[in-house]
Amino acid sequence: MSTHEIAVVGAGVVGLSCAIRLRERGHSVAIYAEKQTPNTTSDRAGAVFSPFRIDGHPAAARWTQASYRTFVELAEQSDASCGVSLTTLRELFFAPLEQHPWWSEFVQDYERSGELFPRYGDSVRAVVPKMDMRRYMPWLTRRFVESLGGRIVPGELVRLDALFDLGHRVIVNCSGLGAGELVMDRAMRPRRGQLLHVAPIAGLDECIVEESRGATATYVFPFEDYTVLGGTYELDAWCEMPQEADLAAIVERCRAMLVACGYQAPADFAERPLRTLAGLRPSRCVGDSDEAVRLECERLGDHRWIVHNYGHGRAGVTLSWGCADQAADLVEEALGR
Ligand SMILES: Cc1cc2nc3c(=O)[nH]c(=O)nc-3n(C[C@H](O)[C@H](O)[C@H](O)COP(=O)(O)OP(=O)(O)OC[C@H]3O[C@@H](n4cnc5c(N)ncnc54)[C@H](O)[C@@H]3O)c2cc1C
Repeated sequence: MSTHEIAVVGAGVVGLSCAIRLRERGHSVAIYAEKQTPNTTSDRAGAVFSPFRIDGHPAAARWTQASYRTFVELAEQSDASCGVSLTTLRELFFAPLEQHPWWSEFVQDYERSGELFPRYGDSVRAVVPKMDMRRYMPWLTRRFVESLGGRIVPGELVRLDALFDLGHRVIVNCSGLGAGELVMDRAMRPRRGQLLHVAPIAGLDECIVEESRGATATYVFPFEDYTVLGGTYELDAWCEMPQEADLAAIVERCRAMLVACGYQAPADFAERPLRTLAGLRPSRCVGDSDEAVRLECERLGDHRWIVHNYGHGRAGVTLSWGCADQAADLVEEALGR
């Protein structure tokens, strides 16, 4: 029998953030996970705080804002090993904007730049957190296991409710795309993303992202020892191997975007990538949304609850702390605290 009151399923960014919040509030927590860093989808994320990838419905807006605050705190703390820092993000649009983006009110130093670049009709800038996932995922794991004394149990679960038989009272389901099988949620679909890490690009000190169109996205995120070039948004593509032709197209789009913004990007700037990655985003497709996050408490008879927290699609890093706060509230409501 487990002595831990709460079982969190999943050790991606969503599960780790939830488990950390629950430990910080004094609960006993064990994580159960088939995959851990560096093998989760979360490890393959860009990752920049990306409010533009989520619509601004009230819950998503609340989670996004709460996450923003936490990431800014992490960026400002002294422990640089967490891999979170603040950056200027420039978003480029093909046509002039009719109104400011929904997220413009809560981010630091937002401005509609007024500067026009060839090919684009508008652009905005703001200060947002960026997460070096090669450092951030190991840091989250260390924070849970070493600083907070949490436990991670490796292995695949076939049935979620088997965890109740081990003595857990509440299960927090952060299984991402795995929720499709684990709780038979047929709204779960993969949205594949491909990207490359290339050597740092001289003089580039801002993240740049182009308004996305269909299955493609174009973004360049500089980190300390590599630069991310992305990407794709391919619905129902299950292959986790990067495809040469797609990578070549990403490089070309990124090069054109950099040149339009006044940066030097010679034809061979991405010839020898440091690594290439593909990951399956856990999209939950309901109506016209493909980020219909499921964050709710399901009661299974007396004294048994499952708090679901999955389906974050293109924005799981961005939403992680806001959703973790609400998931922890739901757990405490269930336990009557
Ligand atoms: C190329 C790419 C770029 C991205 N860029 C960004 C970005 O810039 N900003 C941003 O906010 N987001 C970005 N994302 C999206 C983000 O990565 C995802 O939304 C996020 O990682 C989802 O986290 P998760 O913890 O829900 O899922 P995962 O990281 O997939 O974790 C799921 C966990 O559940 C476990 N699990 C599942 N089923 C079972 C089972 N049956 N038994 C036991 N364990 C199980 C898994 O093993 C794993 O530990 C990007 C994604 C990709 C692929």
